[in-house]
Amino acid sequence: MPLHINTPLLESLPLSRLNRTQVWLKMEAMQPSGSFKIRGVGHACEQHYARGACRFISSSGGNAGLAVAYAGRKLGVPVIVVVPETTSERARHLLRLEGADVRVQGKNWAEANLMALSLLEQNDAFIHPFDDPLLWEGHASLIDEVVAEGVRPDAVILSVGGGGLLAGVDLGLRRNHLDIPIFAIETEGMASFNAALASGQPIALPELTGVATSLGARQVCQRAYDLTREREVISLSVSDKQAVQACLSFLDDHRTLVEPACGAALAALYESKIAVNTMSNVLIIVCGGSTSTSASLHGFKG
Ligand SMILES: *Cc1c(COP(=O)(O)O)cnc(C)c1O
Repeated sequence: MPLHINTPLLESLPLSRLNRTQVWLKMEAMQPSGSFKIRGVGHACEQHYARGACRFISSSGGNAGLAVAYAGRKLGVPVIVVVPETTSERARHLLRLEGADVRVQGKNWAEANLMALSLLEQNDAFIHPFDDPLLWEGHASLIDEVVAEGVRPDAVILSVGGGGLLAGVDLGLRRNHLDIPIFAIETEGMASFNAALASGQPIALPELTGVATSLGARQVCQRAYDLTREREVISLSVSDKQAVQACLSFLDDHRTLVEPACGAALAALYESKIAVNTMSNVLIIVCGGSTSTSASLHGFKG
C-alpha cells in the first residue's frame, strides 16, 4: 500500500469557461500530508525502510518535511526535522502534530541543512525535498492516475520550486507516451527555474523573496534543467499578489485552501496568461500545501 492516495481528478467549470478549454484539476491538496510531496517522499521513505533505515532526517520546514513526518508515523520510523529560526510557528506545530522531533537550528535553510546532515548515522536516511530520482518516480504516479481515468491532456500546468514536481511529471508523461508541453510557473521572487533557462544551466539566485515560500529553492535541480532539452517547457512568472488572489478565487470556486506556491500555477489560468483555447484538455496540478491559513491569505498586503 503506497503512503499517498489516488486523488480526485475534477473538471473546473469556472476555469474552463474563463480559458475556453476543458480544465482538469489534479487535487493533490487532498493528500494526507496536504501536498503532492507525499508521493515522492513516501516512495523514497518506503524504499529506505525496506533497506533497513531506522530513522528519517529532513531539513524542510515545509511540505516536504511534513510528508517525511507523515511517512515516518505511518511506517513507525522516528523522524527528525531540523528547521531554521525563520520557520513559522504553524509549520513547527504541524510537524510536531505528525510526531516529528523538530529541532530549530540556524538562521536560514543552509545552516539547518548542515545541522541535519551532521546528525546522519549509519542507518539513517536523509530525505531531500526535490533532488532525488526516488522522489521523481513517486511524483510520476499522479500522471498514471490521470491517464487511468481516461484523460489525455494536451498540456500540463504546474508550479516549480526546486523542480522535483516538474521532473516527476515529465517522467509520468514520458512513460504514458504523452509528448505535450509543460507550463512551469513560479512567482517573480522565486524564479530559479527561469534563471536556469536564461543562463543555460541551473544557477543560484542571489536572494529569494515573497510569499510563495514552498517555491523557495535558490537553485533548481540539474534534472529539471536537462529535461527541457527533451520536452517543450514554457517558463512563466506571476506576482505574489496574483498567486494569493488565485488562492482566494480557488477557495471560493472549489472549496479548497492552498498555499501561494500552488496559487502561482492557478494564477496562470485565473489571469489567462496562457493561450489554451486551441487545446481540448488542460491539466493543472493543484499541488496544495499546508502552511497557509485563510487569515494568512487575507492578510497579504501586496
Ligand atoms: C514543494 C512544493 C512545490 C514545488 O515543488 P518542487 O518539487 O520543489 O518544484 C510547489 N507547491 C507546493 C505546495 C510544494 O509543497
